[in-house]
Amino acid sequence: MNGNTLQYVRMFNRFFNKGAMAATYKPIFLRSLLDLGDYDTHGSNNKLVGKQWIEVDGDTVTLDLNFIAVRFLRYCWDLEHSFKLKQSSNPNTSATIVSIIRQELRTGKHKNPPSFATLASKQNEKLRSKVIQESIKPQVLKYLLTDMPGLYVHQKRTNKIKLDTNLIPFMNKHRTIIKNGINYKLTLCLETFNKSAPNVAMKVDQDSYPSRKLSAVSEEILDFEQGHRCFYCDRSYEIPKRRHIDHVIPFNYIFSTDAYNCVAACIRCNSSKSDRLPRQELFDDVLDRNTRFLNKRDKFSRAMRHSFSTYDQEWYKRTYDNCKTDYHVDSLFFEPVEYAV
Ligand SMILES: [Zn+2]
Repeated sequence: MNGNTLQYVRMFNRFFNKGAMAATYKPIFLRSLLDLGDYDTHGSNNKLVGKQWIEVDGDTVTLDLNFIAVRFLRYCWDLEHSFKLKQSSNPNTSATIVSIIRQELRTGKHKNPPSFATLASKQNEKLRSKVIQESIKPQVLKYLLTDMPGLYVHQKRTNKIKLDTNLIPFMNKHRTIIKNGINYKLTLCLETFNKSAPNVAMKVDQDSYPSRKLSAVSEEILDFEQGHRCFYCDRSYEIPKRRHIDHVIPFNYIFSTDAYNCVAACIRCNSSKSDRLPRQELFDDVLDRNTRFLNKRDKFSRAMRHSFSTYDQEWYKRTYDNCKTDYHVDSLFFEPVEYAV
């Protein structure tokens, strides 16, 4: 094997210049492989999850596909479960990885998306093996090589691929460029299958997820404007410690924390609402509130002013409707227990 910088640049260029893709697996596989760039070939203080699956011998790296499976699962998990994005052009011939994740979710073992370390642990050995046998090997390994010949060699009938050691420093040095290139391809792909989903590029970039928190000043404005009462049930929450800031359209769908999508809510309403949409009448109240805020936005803090200067009511209404069909689907709409007493 003899990979040098120029060959790798050509390989990645070829991949980035490729036309439309039918599914997300190839960029997700490359995104998973990119972590190999973090492997310290000399250091003993290596914290990389799954480093036990990397063997360096002279100019050859033997990589056990378990290393890829951990990342492959984690990235697909967010796209499928957290963001509910379709990952291939035909939802009926749904990607195997998607059905594996759905099966896994049905076991009820996972309240939150599992971490890399959890996915790499002994308890998930079977799950990783399933991903390798049913998704990575049959759906990615051979096909990616047609786009990037020479990137690796698959050792037949094993779970291992061989790569050139030069790939490690190459990916390390150009990590940001390669990552952004892969994320861009992935975003294009997802936007094709999910026409109305907002902020796809941000959902793809795991390293820079937006904050869920509103600024303290904006929180105070909401407290003041709502008279320290819950937006949904109108009960007084008295002190800020006993209220939450709720994302009206669920955060994982809209994927931003703009003030126009936030209300102050009592803990009970916020917890019971969770990841659901409020019913239409409550959403209309938010629209009215936003029109009021828009008219007096000059009195607000900088962050609030900015949020309302980018507010587009028609877009916001459409986003609520799109969320209903693409994300909320069969869930019941949120309704407070005691509304406007
Ligand atoms: Zn409430």
